[in-house]
Parts: sequence; structure tokens; C-alpha cells
Amino acid sequence: MTAAPEDIPSDHSDDRPHEECGVVGISGIDNAAELAFLGLYALQHRGQEAAGIAAISAQGTKLHKGIGLVADVFDAGQLVQLPGSSAVAHVRYSTAGASRIENAQPIMVRYFDGDLVIAHNGNLTNALDLRAQLVEEGAIFQTSSDSEVIVHLIARSRHKTVDGQIEDALTHLEGAFSLVMSVGDTLYAARDPRGFRPLILGRKDDGYVIASETCAFDIMGAEYVRDLAPGEVLKIRNGHLEELPSLPPAGQPAPCIFELVYFARPDSRLWGISVDRARRAFGRQLAREHPADADAVVSVPDSANSAGLGYAEESGIPFELGLLRNHYVGRTFIEPSQTDRDFGARMKYNPVKEVVAGKRVVVVDDSVVRGTTSLSLVKFIREAGATEVHFRIASPPVKFPCFYGIDMPRREELIGSRMSVDQIRARLKVDSLGYLSLEGMEGAVAEQGPFCNACFSGNYTAPLVDVEKGLALANVGPGY
Ligand code: AMP
Repeated sequence: MTAAPEDIPSDHSDDRPHEECGVVGISGIDNAAELAFLGLYALQHRGQEAAGIAAISAQGTKLHKGIGLVADVFDAGQLVQLPGSSAVAHVRYSTAGASRIENAQPIMVRYFDGDLVIAHNGNLTNALDLRAQLVEEGAIFQTSSDSEVIVHLIARSRHKTVDGQIEDALTHLEGAFSLVMSVGDTLYAARDPRGFRPLILGRKDDGYVIASETCAFDIMGAEYVRDLAPGEVLKIRNGHLEELPSLPPAGQPAPCIFELVYFARPDSRLWGISVDRARRAFGRQLAREHPADADAVVSVPDSANSAGLGYAEESGIPFELGLLRNHYVGRTFIEPSQTDRDFGARMKYNPVKEVVAGKRVVVVDDSVVRGTTSLSLVKFIREAGATEVHFRIASPPVKFPCFYGIDMPRREELIGSRMSVDQIRARLKVDSLGYLSLEGMEGAVAEQGPFCNACFSGNYTAPLVDVEKGLALANVGPGY
């Protein structure tokens, strides 16, 4: 831990890119780009703003990337233009200011030993510090993405071999990185020593696949082999997999518990645990900690469905499909100006009146961040005729921003940071409110922990170098 919670600065500066991403790597499988496309499709929930695939053949490396959903960026024509049996692919979401095409990944550069391609999930916490040093030494940056720092570190390493240069570069990084890279036709995969973000190894035919989540393997027809261990570095070439020396340990591994709470898909397995089973366990524990006298359990789709089922199983209260979600509302949806405050939530969710009217309803959500969704949902459910609303959250109050790759707003905007549970209850105008305790949440997945729980506790395990030095993109390089 680097600082007591009260010392943590309020948040990221607005121009510091903070990103959520999904990555895919393929080695030794024909039409790798097509397979990578399928993998990205399954990982679309990890980033809806930009997508890219680099394909590697004997003729070299070709890259196509663009802004938009995977299906918008690629069509059959583009995939045909990406021949080869290896691929590196990426989906990305970033907050405003950093959403330019230059920041889309994979990043590709010409390197002495062939083309170098990199796809990164996670946020580096010393990227600006490293960037400032590199700029001073003459490096020229083309993007504002923290991932470009890795490319420069590899290129500038004095080690003789590519393996040594990659290892050298990775040891300079702080924070979260799950990486897929290629140099020439060699694929590399690496996970930071604390293992914040997932990265998983699979097998298909005579080749290997790497992905952020196992749901990508299902659609690619690949078999799960194992999760990469924190600090592990793999090298794959010509169907041969080699384990390179692990990165130096940095204390206790700390995989992100918010992946289990919200971010990952429930049909994935991360760190040897089913996301659905973890969420159900959270829901069951929530029912034990905060029971309710009610007629129906309704979850906020889709991310709270498993937790809602867990709550219903434990409490014996019937689970009902009382809220419907419109799946065609993207994150980048622009609200017409003539709309009320609830418009965003109303576009996304609608109560089923026949289910909630005249009922005492337990509403289960996976997390509350700003509180705006909850406020609107409670209002709709009451308008639809619910007699009582008991709001239950399958995680503790989010009080601190994430610096390791989950997009969270600044601390002042986190309702759990500004208000007590009782104040939130009054604000939401619910009959009762209960959050899962931190101990209860961690206890429910105890066999897999310990986890990073910084967004709930303020216990930041990897040093927040850039934040502590007060660095912002604007003062570490020209042009941004
Ligand atoms: P809010 O309205 O800000 O309280 O958002 C809470 C809702 O957003 C919950 O229903 C979560 O399922 C979802 N959520 C939680 N974390 C995130 C995140 N990092 N990005 C987008 N949505 C999130």
C-alpha cells in the first residue's frame, strides 16, 4: 500500500487516459485475423470505442483499426486483407479526450527484428513519469496512450536479444498490464506481477490463443489451458510455447475483484473461478447480510442478473424479470438536448409493469458508481406501481477511483465517497438499502483471493507514481 485513503488525490486529471480493454493473441492458426475477429466480438463488453487487428504472415504484418464497435470496424473485405497465422487484437474504451484514432490499438512500429505490435489491457501508474524521461532522451510519441511507453522502452533497451529487451522494458512498468505482443512472427504474452487484469492461455488445433476472458475461447472454438500467472511472460513461435523468466514479484498478487463484480462476462472463468458462480455467491451473501421482507427479486440487467439469482436462491423470494434492458444503447449514445434527467437510464432500462405493480420489490444491482442509474431506476419502478423498493448492492460502496484499468469517475462524483449509506438511502428514496460488506464479498470468493479492492477500500497496492508526482499529459510532452 502506498498511501492512506485520505491522502489519495481526488482523481485522474481529465487528460490522463484511463482505459478499459480486451486483448486477443493467436499463434500458429490459419486465418488468424478471422479468429481474432470472433474473439474481439466476445470481448466487446470490455471496450466499445475502438477495435483493431494486426495479422502476421511471411510477407510481414498488416494492421487495420478504427473507431467503433468490432462489427463497424471490420467487414469480410477487411479480414481478407489481413492474411497470416498469427494475430494481435484489441478492443478499447477510453474516457473523453483520449478517444482519437491514434490511440486505438494494437500499436504497430517497425523494429530491427521485424514489425513490433502491442495490445495492452490495464493502466500503467508510472506511464507519464516514464514518458517524461523518454521525451527528455529524445523519444517522439505519436499517441497519448500509456501503452506507447512500452514500445519505446523495448526499442531503447540495451539488451542484445528481443526477449531480453522485452523483459527489461516490462520491469520498468508500474501498475496494470496484461499484454499481447508480436515481434516478427513471434507472439509474446505477459501479465504484470500483481496480475490486476486477467490473461488466459488456450489451445486450438496446433496453435495457441491468448485472450482476456474465456468467453472468447468459446466462440473461437479454443480450449482453455490455464490463466497466466501474475508476472508470467510467454513466448510462442511455430507452435512451440516457451515460458520466459517471470517478472520480479511485487508483493502479494492482487487480481481485480471488480472484474468479478461487474466487468467480466458471467460465462467467463477468471482465475479458476466462474464469474457467474462468484456473482451468485455475492448475491447469496448479500441476502444473508441484508434480508428483506418482499414479494419479488428483480435484478438490473445484465450485469446484476447472477447476483439477483443468488439473492433469490438464498432468500427464497421469487426471481422475476422485472426490468428490461435495451441492448442497442451504446456508451457513446448522444442524448438529445430536450430531455429530462432520467433520459439516459430510460433509454436503457424499462420496468415490466405487470411484474412490479402492487409488489414489494427487492432490486439487486451489482454496483453503484455515481448513483444516477439507481436514482432513475427506483423512480421508474415506483411509477410502475411497486409498493416498496428494497435496494440491494452486490458489492460495497465504490469510494475510490481505479488507477489500474477500470473506468471510474473522479472521487467527488462517486456517491459512496460523498455520502453515508443512510444518506444514500434517503437520496434514492428507497424503503431500505443494503450494500454487501467488503468482508462478505471477499469471503464469498475466499479460495481465489486476495484481490485488489482499491475502489472499495482505497488500498492501492501498486504505487500511484504519476498521481503522487502530480503529472498530467499536458506537461510531459509536446503536442498534447
Ligand atoms: P452509476 O449510475 O454511475 O451509479 O452506474 C452504476 C451502474 O453502472 C451499475 O448498474 C453498474 O452495473 C454499471 N457500472 C459499474 N461500473 C461501471 C464502469 N466502470 N463503467 C460503466 N458502467 C459501470
